[in-house]
Amino acid sequence: MKKKLSIETIAVHGTYKKDETGATNPAIYLSNAYQFKDSAHAANLFDLSVAGYIYSRLNNPTTNHLEETAAALEGGVAAVACATGQFAEFMTIASLAKCGDNIVASNLLYGGTHTLFANQFTRFGIEIRFADPHNIDDFEKLIDDNTKAIYIESIANPQGFVPNFKKFAALASKHKVPLVVDNTCATPYLVKPVNYGADIVIHSATKFLAGHGAVLGGLVIDSGKFDWAASGKFPELTTPDKSYHGLIFTEHFGSAAFAAKMRVSAMRDIGGTISPFNSFLIQQGIGTLHLRMERHVENAKKLAKFLQNHKNVAWVDYNGLKDNKNHKNADKFLTLGGGSLLTFGVKGGFEKSKQFIEKVSLALHVSNLGDIKTIVTHPASTTHRQLSEQELASSGVTADLIRVSVGIENIDDITADFDKALGN
Ligand SMILES: *Cc1c(COP(=O)(O)O)cnc(C)c1O
Repeated sequence: MKKKLSIETIAVHGTYKKDETGATNPAIYLSNAYQFKDSAHAANLFDLSVAGYIYSRLNNPTTNHLEETAAALEGGVAAVACATGQFAEFMTIASLAKCGDNIVASNLLYGGTHTLFANQFTRFGIEIRFADPHNIDDFEKLIDDNTKAIYIESIANPQGFVPNFKKFAALASKHKVPLVVDNTCATPYLVKPVNYGADIVIHSATKFLAGHGAVLGGLVIDSGKFDWAASGKFPELTTPDKSYHGLIFTEHFGSAAFAAKMRVSAMRDIGGTISPFNSFLIQQGIGTLHLRMERHVENAKKLAKFLQNHKNVAWVDYNGLKDNKNHKNADKFLTLGGGSLLTFGVKGGFEKSKQFIEKVSLALHVSNLGDIKTIVTHPASTTHRQLSEQELASSGVTADLIRVSVGIENIDDITADFDKALGN
């Protein structure tokens, strides 16, 4: 049997095979529609009885390359790309749950995800029940007959929490619901959640996959492993679909039923489509994912150690450090034993941390992560400034907390910049 290609090779080559021109990169197909061969061909396309292109809201050849590459990187059977990470989440939940259903989710989530879950979905009658991922029993207590998924992140930011994927997968499988993992902060280079039982993997491709802070994009990867028919909880996938002449997704699309449903239903009807140009740039970014991740993590480890030894630093929290509370799972599940995000506190609290942000010159002060450039943020004076002291404390964001998304510059230049801003 042919050995499967390694992740580095998949990242470099993607799934692109040369076209008739021999071009070494996939073309950017800036076309919103595609010519039908004849009326019968058009009818077959609309009935989903043949595969092909109709309209770019649903499908685009450039974006398809990205989707196939993402599926290969994560070890899934199919993927759907979309405009943003937020839409990837929306499309996933909207395809799994309807009014009256619920999702049980970790309470350690990206801020935008938390807002979408806590405020937006409730308006549609989908309840997101939050639980502490440190205690898996808390998740189980919230699961009932209307629960349609369990939702976690591979590295929660800014807390650095790494779940025991196997335990969450076992819980999801016991209750016959899919485990959904947002793998944005770890990327498939550090962990492939599908290998530990995740059923659906989500990315904000905006971050490490694209990698250069230039574009927005989202991806949902279908592992192909969830048994929708045996679950009995997803009639929209396992019984005739009225909008497609009674087609049954699990019978027609087999293991890729969920990805197919997202594309021809959520994407068709709601339309959070990605531009083919952005798909191309994300594909370009993925070509160096393995090299960047290696350097991101190496630099994060070095910066964490540098900060630990700095006299003006109060504390450092990085899951790649041996004495860190999140190290056990980071070491067990992440290839390189940590991601590229860390937090620390400046001695002197809120004011000193704010001053630090104002004094760095190499590091960027922006609200983003996963860029090749080092980024620093001070949540208490920016993203979390509306919260009271008490709310800050309960969200784990202290007034002195600085979050760093460590870039791939020379580490000595990063530490020199931090040293100057900390006042040596
Ligand atoms: C940024 C981010 C998102 C949202 O993605 P966008 O592309 O900004 O819409 C979702 N999850 C995580 C973990 C993120 O970091």
